[in-house]
Amino acid sequence: MTKLDSKIPSGPLESKWDRHRFSEKLVSPHNKRKLTVIVVGTGLAGASAASTLGQLGYQVECFCFQDSPRRAHSIAAQGGINAAKNYQDDGDSVGRLFYDTIKGGDFRSREANVYRLAQISGQIIDQCVALGIPFAREYGGQLANRSFGGVQVSRTFYCRGQTGQQLLLGAYSALCWQIERGQVTMRPRTEMLDLIVVDGQARGIVVRDLVTGRISIHTAHVVVLATGGYSNVYYLSTNASGSNVTATYRAWKQGAAFANPCFTQIHPTAIPPSDAYQAKLTLMSESLRNDGRLWVPKMPGDTRAPREISEGERDYFLERRYPRFGNLAPRDIASRAVKAVCDEGRGVGPNGHGVYLDFAGVVEQHGLDVVSERYGNLFEMYHRITGEDAYHAPMRIYPAPHYTMGGLWVDYNLMSTIPGLFVIGEANFADHGANRLGASSLMQGLGDGYFILPYTIGHYLATAKLPPVTEDHTEARKAHHRVLNRMARLLAAKGRRTAASFHRELGSLLWNYCGMSRTKIGLKLALSSIPTLREDFWRDVVVPGTGDCFNQELEYAGRVADYLEFAELLCHDAWHRQESCGAHFREEYQTGDGEPTRDDTRFAHVAAWEYREGASPILHKEPLAFEFVQPTTRSYQ
Ligand SMILES: Cc1cc2nc3c(=O)[nH]c(=O)nc-3n(C[C@H](O)[C@H](O)[C@H](O)COP(=O)(O)OP(=O)(O)OC[C@H]3O[C@@H](n4cnc5c(N)ncnc54)[C@H](O)[C@@H]3O)c2cc1C
Repeated sequence: MTKLDSKIPSGPLESKWDRHRFSEKLVSPHNKRKLTVIVVGTGLAGASAASTLGQLGYQVECFCFQDSPRRAHSIAAQGGINAAKNYQDDGDSVGRLFYDTIKGGDFRSREANVYRLAQISGQIIDQCVALGIPFAREYGGQLANRSFGGVQVSRTFYCRGQTGQQLLLGAYSALCWQIERGQVTMRPRTEMLDLIVVDGQARGIVVRDLVTGRISIHTAHVVVLATGGYSNVYYLSTNASGSNVTATYRAWKQGAAFANPCFTQIHPTAIPPSDAYQAKLTLMSESLRNDGRLWVPKMPGDTRAPREISEGERDYFLERRYPRFGNLAPRDIASRAVKAVCDEGRGVGPNGHGVYLDFAGVVEQHGLDVVSERYGNLFEMYHRITGEDAYHAPMRIYPAPHYTMGGLWVDYNLMSTIPGLFVIGEANFADHGANRLGASSLMQGLGDGYFILPYTIGHYLATAKLPPVTEDHTEARKAHHRVLNRMARLLAAKGRRTAASFHRELGSLLWNYCGMSRTKIGLKLALSSIPTLREDFWRDVVVPGTGDCFNQELEYAGRVADYLEFAELLCHDAWHRQESCGAHFREEYQTGDGEPTRDDTRFAHVAAWEYREGASPILHKEPLAFEFVQPTTRSYQ
């Protein structure tokens, strides 16, 4: 039976983390050498954690499914990373970053976690500068900042439109140093397929070598999952195609509670899909909304070229509806506003699924060179994909699944409900409530990996009883069998449909009924359709080849099989949450002018779901107490 204990330290918010760190037990250097840590994932969260733990002296075994750790999805991050440095002197502070994040998440995150994140945000930038990250600088040499959605200060540090790439190269260099020192053993092209739990503690994983097909058991004293988010459950998303839910979902099946799975973020500015067979969407960074203005024609069905539509005939709908934040309204709000104007028949481009993001004003004011310096690589990417020149005609953009605030439940120490299983980065649920603000994920992933986990894992290792566990342990063998059985079942199906065709069907079901807006009727339909689709999958999927060699169809089919189970949990959570908050918009709960209505009396809690074989999951609620911020109606008008 799962028991939620958030372990939030008592006392004033400002000193919780300092006092907690001081009270944590340490592991002596000579004992660290005897302790092994498994880290699954080499994105910003995993690479920063693995390198720091290696540097501290632990023996780290690190896994990723890419051919190199530096190809993790984090490399795609574009716009920037937040920190409360107040370099602009524009009124920023730790308190303001904390408040913006709590409000941005629509009062569905833990105060203590968010405050700690704001506190360490400055250290993250210092660490990155020390690692040589080439952040953009002002003419005078000071690090430059820009604004992101949902805030009125400039606190986003960036490397042009390639911030994730540069930050990951830094974390990767630190990781390589530890690999070279022999502290980290790196195992790329290896996929975790199950978790080994011994006497209630996470003690290892079962993995498949994606090149040889070999299944092996790896045991350790503690396991860290840094396996990213699950937006690809929607089939089309801005995430790397390989990002998936398998690691966290299979940990869920072994007893780790899954929190708020229905909190999925739809980003307003992706390039619209061009046909039904497209398998990937491309983000146009939120940073573009610093200078780009969103608009649609006032007249429905207006098919004239954008430059033929005069100023008076345009509706700058975000500036009109949210005059205080304008084009920098938070993502959930901007996405819904885009959908609303498209639903009114005022969308642009093929199928009317698009709005303009226009740079004419900034080009006229600052010139092409300045715009190219700020956003050149994004404009180039847009040109390569659409053939259109965004310097001279507006971009067309449309919302797309992008980020998942839900994830495995963790306490203040980033430990899941399975002792010894720590979860960091996008894979956990911890800091963003019902909606993440732009540029806050990189901050969280690096904060977890560089500054939080290295302390809290030490306390666990110093205090837990951890008898030796070898590959022959019964629980390890059981996990090994589970993996073999599932693979054999996939290979035995010998049906007629590809895994991709099931994934596409599931994605469209979720997008229509559990996407940007949700209704009781739609969710009911999704909840009755998903089990049928799942049955069809197991009866009719075809997985060519065998399991004992390189077989990407097999890898993918395993991930789709997990999505087909996980999607039900996602809809179940959305069904249960009878309120609108952040990215979770239930149409039944809105004001007359379409703004969401939250229900703090019934839903100011984290919904943490416990797995039960063959039965509905059990809901556990972690109440959210707001001692320092008063939940108010979230308004950006
Ligand atoms: C296009 C785009 C732009 C973005 N821009 C920004 C931005 O500007 N600012 C910002 O703050 N956020 C941004 N984000 C969000 C941010 O990039 C991600 O949330 C963040 O990088 C996630 O990092 P992570 O380390 O948690 O996971 P990831 O980077 O997704 O890494 C996951 C790792 O886990 C491994 N893994 C997963 N499953 C398994 C398994 N079963 N077995 C073995 N290994 C496994 C993978 O191989 C990988 O190494 C953006 C996201 C996208 C899609």
